[in-house]
Amino acid sequence: MKAVVLYGPRDVKVTHDFPEPPLADNAVKVAVSYCGLCGTDFHKYQGKAGSRPVTYPVALGHEASGTVVAIGKDVTDFRIGDRVTVDPNWSCGHCYYCKNGKRHLCENSKGVVKGMAEYICPPQENVYHLPDHLSLRDASLCEPLACCLHGVDLLEMRPGETVCIVGFGAIGNLILQLCRNAGAGKIIVVEPVEEKRSTAMQLGASLFLNPKTDNLKQAIRDAGIPCVDRVIECGGLPITAEIALDVAGRGATVVLFGVGAPDAIVPLKQYEAFQKELVIKTSYINPCTTDRAISLLAEGKINTDAAIGKLISPEDLPSELETGRYSRLGKVVVCIKEE
Ligand SMILES: [Zn+2]
Ligand SMILES: [Zn+2]
Repeated sequence: MKAVVLYGPRDVKVTHDFPEPPLADNAVKVAVSYCGLCGTDFHKYQGKAGSRPVTYPVALGHEASGTVVAIGKDVTDFRIGDRVTVDPNWSCGHCYYCKNGKRHLCENSKGVVKGMAEYICPPQENVYHLPDHLSLRDASLCEPLACCLHGVDLLEMRPGETVCIVGFGAIGNLILQLCRNAGAGKIIVVEPVEEKRSTAMQLGASLFLNPKTDNLKQAIRDAGIPCVDRVIECGGLPITAEIALDVAGRGATVVLFGVGAPDAIVPLKQYEAFQKELVIKTSYINPCTTDRAISLLAEGKINTDAAIGKLISPEDLPSELETGRYSRLGKVVVCIKEE
């Protein structure tokens, strides 16, 4: 089958003879229509780990939507022709974490979607039906949105509180929309790419600050904001984590959402954190949030045109991975087969 395959660091090719994944008895064969490009795909391309370590060769992508074209003999919930999205994170169900309600922390977890390919064969427990009116293009946002929902759950924001989002890429964009929907009072976006200012303000940001030119804490004070109650870091860099911890007000909760490099170390001003009595959390993947993501997309609660920056073809993907040309400005979605 056709697939965009990573053979090693910075070695990616569109191939037409990648082996199709086998269809297990409990699995669903999905013809992929759209697959979103994730920050972790860039990490894998650069030779780093994704959500888990990488083994080559591997088809990239895990944010897929498509149509069922075959089912294994034990599959009960899906039929040929069903429109679906897939949670790429499989968990075993029998380890300590699974048995204690933390399936996303499963010791035996694995990725079951390599979505930059014509076909994927995930187990049926990872597959989700889509409502007819939700386009497969928009449904490719289910996975990142499900991850963002978990991050916002961990933020434990109360309506009216001030939230600061550090980093306004595709994830920051979705998180802004979730915080706005959840009743955030003031929303501060910290982002160095000026072209993103108007989108952030249109989506409900109260204040857009550029960390290169603004004195962040002073600008927040000048805007009459006494305390940043919740901070969510969406850059995955030591500097974005540092900014998040720095702008956090007293008693704030800080969620480090961005995927950092495996060897990156974030400096923590221990005394300042002590005085502010910070709650610092990290967020990993998407435990049981996919149905909520589908519901938000289906109900039109997420502006998908504002989140998706560019649709590209599989052939465009190698150069996008090298340059990040379109990803710089928004979510890139690869069209494998038009709906
Ligand atoms: Zn992702
Ligand atoms: Zn498990």
